[in-house]
Amino acid sequence: MVCSGTNLKTMNTLKIALQKSGRLSEKSIRLLLDCGIGLSNGTKSLKAKSDNFPLEILFLRDDDIPQYVAEGVAHLGIVGSNVVTEKGISLPQLLQLGFAKCRLSLAIPKEENYEGIGFFQNKKIATSYPRILKEYLQQKQIECDIEEISGSVEIATSIGLAHAVCDIVSTGSTLLQNGLKEVHSIYQSEAVLVSTPSLPAAEQVLANELLFRIKAVLAARQNKYILLNTPNKSIDPICQLLPGMKSPTILPLAQPGWSSLHSVVPENDFWPVISALKDLGAEGILVTSIEKMIA
Ligand code: ATP
Ligand code: ZN
Repeated sequence: MVCSGTNLKTMNTLKIALQKSGRLSEKSIRLLLDCGIGLSNGTKSLKAKSDNFPLEILFLRDDDIPQYVAEGVAHLGIVGSNVVTEKGISLPQLLQLGFAKCRLSLAIPKEENYEGIGFFQNKKIATSYPRILKEYLQQKQIECDIEEISGSVEIATSIGLAHAVCDIVSTGSTLLQNGLKEVHSIYQSEAVLVSTPSLPAAEQVLANELLFRIKAVLAARQNKYILLNTPNKSIDPICQLLPGMKSPTILPLAQPGWSSLHSVVPENDFWPVISALKDLGAEGILVTSIEKMIA
């Protein structure tokens, strides 16, 4: 249920767990700020309160977030899906948030010859993600020895601890710097919004409101607002290219035979669409970011 406009002052407090310091922290806070949620006492202490939304923020290590949310200490949490899966804790996932995208990959010393997943049969693999790795290799019927380590996984082969590693990768540059090559990806991750399994009714209303705002912010981030001038004869084909949220807005220009057309285009379609618009005679194309988008 969407409940934008609910009288928030009469409600209980919703608690959300965010990573205190790390790759998720800044973007998690940014998301709340973009949702119009102000933070009165900053992000330095372990708890913060919003001054304009009944929200308390708990700043934790990311590894602790699934458990706090599962136990209801926090009603919601923002954490990498890799951490939730690795903990083996089943939590309702409300949204994928589109940041902290990374993958969990198997990597081997770069001089080794790799001809497929069978390479790992009876090998020793170092990882901080033993559960995800074990489940994946079991599905592939690969027997191996998993060495669980909590950090600096990428040096495990060079110090003779393991034949291969399984670690988080985004660009692969850390692996390369350590003489490793990524050979097989086993899990795709991004930041997700998770919820405690049974949210009390009052907090559910607040969670719905927050979810409504987050969806509007994410939709806005994924789209651009586009304004252009077009010869009238190109209006129909341009409308096909830019269907917009309902349909494009078309306004006549002072110059006869021309119109101004306004629409919305998904960020990912942007460059191909621009080329096609130019081919159709569009001029004066302006593209701007959207702050919030509510369908
Ligand atoms: P904490 O101190 O909270 O335990 P951490 O060191 O375990 O932090 P970070 O390195 O901050 O964790 O990573 C947090 C999450 O960000 C990871 O669980 C993963 O989901 C994502 N992540 C990790 N590495 C990358 C990367 N290179 N690019 C994008 N996202 C990443
Ligand atoms: Zn961690």
